[in-house]
Amino acid sequence: MVRKFFVGGNWKCNGTAEEVKKIVTVLNEAEVPSEDDVGNGPFFFSFAEVVVSPPFVFLPVVKGLLRPDFHVAAQNCWVRRGGAFTGEISAEMLVNLGIPWVILGHSERRSLLNESNEFVGDKVAYALSLGLKVIACVGETLQQRESGSTMAVVAAQTKAIAANVSYWDNVVLAYEPVWAIGTGKVATPAQAQEVHLELRKWLHDNVGAEVAASTRIIYGGSVNGANCKELAGQPDVDGFLVGGASLKPEFIDIIKSAT
Ligand code: PGA
Repeated sequence: MVRKFFVGGNWKCNGTAEEVKKIVTVLNEAEVPSEDDVGNGPFFFSFAEVVVSPPFVFLPVVKGLLRPDFHVAAQNCWVRRGGAFTGEISAEMLVNLGIPWVILGHSERRSLLNESNEFVGDKVAYALSLGLKVIACVGETLQQRESGSTMAVVAAQTKAIAANVSYWDNVVLAYEPVWAIGTGKVATPAQAQEVHLELRKWLHDNVGAEVAASTRIIYGGSVNGANCKELAGQPDVDGFLVGGASLKPEFIDIIKSAT
């Protein structure tokens, strides 16, 4: 089963209108092999799916300027139908603007905004029900890793997500160890592969063999132009969710690590 390499760029709460346009210009000018170049059949290498996630207010401008082979994602959305929820952005609004993807369950929202597994699961359900595609994030803290509960934590997070998914083609699972996010302390390729393999086994045992074989499991946490190649070489690492480095030209090198 060919899993198409997936590279997400999470810009988080960064950028001015001018800076965002500059990043888009760099992306648009980058020479990356396109699907047209490499073919899309079973005997051809299928090039990476690239999705960048600017802050909400910049989504329309980025979507309007971005090359057509790259796509955009929102960084979050509200858990149910919009209405009297001051400050929230509904999934309906994303659909209305033609935003195809949304990131849900990022650890910054889990920890800073107290988003529980159940709440993340409910958001996943609602976003998928409207046809959005979801990058669903899981990952353990340093304390959880050191106490040996990494797999229990990510399995519980994945279970709450999986309970709300019936069509897995629209889901990418992002393993992002909290201790690696924004710290410069990247997981070693072996550490990433170990958890990705366990997650795939979890999907196999709890969802099904086909879903386990076809679902992209991507890694996030201090990925950069220097460490991406080795991580990308791991059999169960199907791409990346990149924070800091997605704001820099080295994001292009990370995209190219797919090849
Ligand atoms: P980082 O962030 O690449 O800056 O560590 C990754 C993420 O939070 O998705």
